[in-house]
Amino acid sequence: MNSSDVFYLCPTCFAALTQHEDNHAHRMIAVPILNLPLDQRRPLSDAQGHLLTQAPRWFVTLTFPLHAGRAG
Ligand SMILES: [Zn+2]
Repeated sequence: MNSSDVFYLCPTCFAALTQHEDNHAHRMIAVPILNLPLDQRRPLSDAQGHLLTQAPRWFVTLTFPLHAGRAG
């Protein structure tokens, strides 16, 4: 994967970097920005369409995968 296709985000302090920082104080997640389908860019919602989060699905999936699996 081309390094420009990914950015690295710290879900603790929200530092966003284009290159992984090995000595960052918190675990960082790699976000594949060019491969995010539309449903991954939207917040989680229930079967009736009520929003469950304000964060996009990709963020919830990478930081709280158990919660992402419960929503529709
Ligand atoms: Zn951090």
